[in-house]
Amino acid sequence: MNLLWRMSGEKISCFICLTSDGTEKCTTCQVGMCGWHTVVHKGEKGSCYPYKVVVRGTQGRILVATRNIRKGELICAEVPAIVGPYSRSRPQCLQCFKLIQEQHEYFCEGCGFPMCDLVCSQGKYHQEECKVFKEAGKRVKVKNMECLDVQYSAISVLRLLLLLEKEKLSKDNRFNDDNKANYLLRLAGSLMDHNIERKETQPDIWQFEEDCMVDFIHQIVKVCIKIILNNSMLRNAI
Ligand SMILES: [Zn+2]
Ligand SMILES: [Zn+2]
Ligand SMILES: [Zn+2]
Ligand SMILES: [Zn+2]
Repeated sequence: MNLLWRMSGEKISCFICLTSDGTEKCTTCQVGMCGWHTVVHKGEKGSCYPYKVVVRGTQGRILVATRNIRKGELICAEVPAIVGPYSRSRPQCLQCFKLIQEQHEYFCEGCGFPMCDLVCSQGKYHQEECKVFKEAGKRVKVKNMECLDVQYSAISVLRLLLLLEKEKLSKDNRFNDDNKANYLLRLAGSLMDHNIERKETQPDIWQFEEDCMVDFIHQIVKVCIKIILNNSMLRNAI
């Protein structure tokens, strides 16, 4: 069947990333799927999710229904691309996110952030940024456990940048199992950042991000993520 569609010259776009490169039609509902996104077209019970992305005028990328949707029907389930602390956070474990209390005594050997214990400090979430801090030779000092600490503001952005960097490194290896699990990465380049509107309508938040995220990443860990910054991913990511 796919051969016939191709011979007819019909252009098939992936329902979510819109590429036509290697895209096939779902044999059940006829929605287009590229090799990366077949895994997010169907739910746990094997039924097709009823939506696709279209680009519409000034609205940009939007979701539209591809069939009638039943009341209460699950139309989408995704794993988060990253998990991390909110940009205005109190000191917390960077692995399990438990708030840190006064008189806390365990600090990560690699970076100096307070963590629950050795197990959390070696956890998969924290290890990503911990390596960056370690390689840059930087240790943070978190003193007051009761107050907001801006040293946490850029952690989630840093995790996202590191993930995007991994995507670039793995582009030539697209059907590797690990990469498939990170299907959302393939969408990063097409997401809209709304930076112009945000700068105008939320100047305080914009300035906070400049001071606590952009400057932090530039100054504290610039050695290790120079490549990422050179590719202008930073501003698009926050
Ligand atoms: Zn796709
Ligand atoms: Zn389908
Ligand atoms: Zn923990
Ligand atoms: Zn650490």
